[in-house]
Amino acid sequence: MRNVVIVGSGCAGNTAALYTARANLQPLVISGHEPGGQLSLTTLVENFPGFPEGINGPDLVANIRQQAERFGAEYVHGSVIEADLSKRPFRLNVEGDWIEARALIIASGASARWLGLPSEQKLIGHGVSSCATCDGFFYRDKKIMVIGGGDSAMEEAIFLTRFGREVAVVHRRDEFRASKIMLERARRNLKIRWVTPAVVEEVLDVTKGYVTGARLRNVKTGETWEQEVDGFFVAIGHIPNTAVFKGQIELDGDGYIISKGGAKTSVTGVFHAGDVQDRVYRQAITAAGAGCMAALEAERFLEAEGH
Ligand SMILES: Cc1cc2nc3c(=O)[nH]c(=O)nc-3n(C[C@H](O)[C@H](O)[C@H](O)COP(=O)(O)OP(=O)(O)OC[C@H]3O[C@@H](n4cnc5c(N)ncnc54)[C@H](O)[C@@H]3O)c2cc1C
Repeated sequence: MRNVVIVGSGCAGNTAALYTARANLQPLVISGHEPGGQLSLTTLVENFPGFPEGINGPDLVANIRQQAERFGAEYVHGSVIEADLSKRPFRLNVEGDWIEARALIIASGASARWLGLPSEQKLIGHGVSSCATCDGFFYRDKKIMVIGGGDSAMEEAIFLTRFGREVAVVHRRDEFRASKIMLERARRNLKIRWVTPAVVEEVLDVTKGYVTGARLRNVKTGETWEQEVDGFFVAIGHIPNTAVFKGQIELDGDGYIISKGGAKTSVTGVFHAGDVQDRVYRQAITAAGAGCMAALEAERFLEAEGH
């Protein structure tokens, strides 16, 4: 039986581990399929306070983990594949082993949806990104491409015009899912070029190890061509990692945890932290802050329960 179990080892989970460890609660962190979370995919992080020269994403999360371990946090490999939150203690199946917890912090993140091209996957962090706020600054006066046709693609494209020389929005249809207001705002922006109906066949150039362009195909005519580009932003949505909690805690239509104030979920004793609940900010610092909030709430909950 554990006082606190934390699901996920990204910024949110590791920060929750640090705080609950320093409260002497000996937390157990379940690392998941992506130890270190989304920052383990990227290279330089320039907007996490405290690092004037920036810090590599994997180093940042590894540092927070090391800091948490120094105070007694324990980590196990594996993912939660089943959960029973209907009564306390909560029970979690970690790839065959059941773990019991008095309090649970869910920090399982929301993974960016990618196109799934091998070239795209190889160039993540080397010109391929899913976060304009995070990486736009690297593309001052450069050529940028945004893939997607929804509101978030429009928002990312508009934001990226602050940096890029031009921003090409590539969408597979001529019609857009984005709201009228966002689409109009984007259409008024003279730096945005529209490339429709087109799909990306390959991100170039894996042999060089960074993005130099993209091979596109017009889905109506079948014509293919290569377009030079420096920053390739995929903005086709996120998938919250909550499948195992479906039916156990309240989730919204897209699967994000619905907050009941602070870090509370619909189940007493279960707390949320980070991108798994946050569809708006999605930053390392906000996830870390949310991890702190969840830890403080878990502490108070356990205290009130006499543990
Ligand atoms: C390429 C890229 C670059 C980025 N750059 C920046 C940047 O420069 N600055 C910035 O502020 N933000 C950046 N971000 C965003 C930032 O990484 C996220 O906001 C942050 O990682 C969210 O932290 P999190 O802990 O909530 O979730 P995540 O980092 O997504 O971590 C989720 C964790 O949960 C685990 N997990 C999932 N399912 C299960 C399960 N069933 N059982 C157990 N564990 C599970 C995963 O393995 C992972 O460890 C970037 C994101 C990407 C993808």
